[in-house]
Amino acid sequence: MKAFTYERAKDPVAAARAAARPGAKFLAGGTNLLDLMKIEVETPTHLIDVQDLGLDRIEKTKEGGLRIGAFATNTALAADERVRRDYGVLSRAIVAGASGQLRNKATTAGNLLQRTRCPYFYDTNMACNKRRPGTGCSAIGGYSRQLAVVGSSNDCIATNPSDMNVAMRVLDATVETVNPEGRTRAIPIADFHRLPGNTPHIETALQPGELITAVTLPRPIRGTHIYEKVRDRASYAFALVSVAAVIQKDGTGRVALGGVAHKPWRVEAAEAAMPQGARAVTATLLADARPTQDNAYKVPLVERTLAAVISQARTA
Ligand SMILES: Cc1cc2nc3c(=O)[nH]c(=O)nc-3n(C[C@H](O)[C@H](O)[C@H](O)COP(=O)(O)OP(=O)(O)OC[C@H]3O[C@@H](n4cnc5c(N)ncnc54)[C@H](O)[C@@H]3O)c2cc1C
Repeated sequence: MKAFTYERAKDPVAAARAAARPGAKFLAGGTNLLDLMKIEVETPTHLIDVQDLGLDRIEKTKEGGLRIGAFATNTALAADERVRRDYGVLSRAIVAGASGQLRNKATTAGNLLQRTRCPYFYDTNMACNKRRPGTGCSAIGGYSRQLAVVGSSNDCIATNPSDMNVAMRVLDATVETVNPEGRTRAIPIADFHRLPGNTPHIETALQPGELITAVTLPRPIRGTHIYEKVRDRASYAFALVSVAAVIQKDGTGRVALGGVAHKPWRVEAAEAAMPQGARAVTATLLADARPTQDNAYKVPLVERTLAAVISQARTA
């Protein structure tokens, strides 16, 4: 691990100001950042520990939604009785990820920003445009079984690994931030994560130093909330494909996919086809898919997983 300095921030704007320094990074639960520092994929020179900012409450908004403090742990969020009752897809997605111990440390903001699990990103001996811009992508033409089938580019085929992000996308969450000048922003989750294009190292809409302070959920949507994750092992594995859905009695609904793209993948136009079934929805959701030979299996797997989700909703 490379040497770094460390401070504990006491107020959000001061934290943002400190993080605007080149080489500085926020430290939340540390479950992703510290792992990456140990293998020198991330080499920050200064860490700003943001866990003492008191931004961990989950509160009702005046619009009837929920405001989740950036540092609410994944355990607290998944267990919150309002989340379990009104946003079941979020609770289910979170408990489908990682392990109990990790979820006790991992935070809402840290989960939103966790980095890809592309094996070439983790291997500092391999070229990776996301780790070192302009060096090339070893995943293209390499081992790509876990990697993206849609929204990828000639520079990157990595996926976003988060389960929580997929549920946040189907619920139309908003990410709230504060910048080093104290200005706040509300970024719709649809615009928060970026596709790789030719700058795969720029993963989100955040500006230098900008601190996530909360994530807001709109009023609950009625319907059956389902999160279905397909993975290599029954637990403790990232999604090959996942489906977050909220489905109504008449078969209409919303759906987002995990494990297929650089961001949680939702195409609102595809949802018009929900009552016609999984094949029709998948045809639009993955219309622009460019799978590799290794991961072409993900396209039929999405359709089958979605079919299982629709059938669960029918019998719920
Ligand atoms: C073995 C293992 C298995 C896992 N399995 C899964 C899984 O199946 N599904 C899944 O979804 N996840 C899984 N995870 C990932 C885990 O969910 C993430 O590591 C965790 O959510 C990151 O949260 P954190 O608070 O620890 O973030 P950190 O590691 O502290 O931070 C992550 C990033 O976010 C930045 N950051 C943190 N807070 C803020 C903020 N407020 N504003 C701006 N930037 C910020 C940090 O600078 C850093 O770049 C797994 C992790 C491990 C180690």
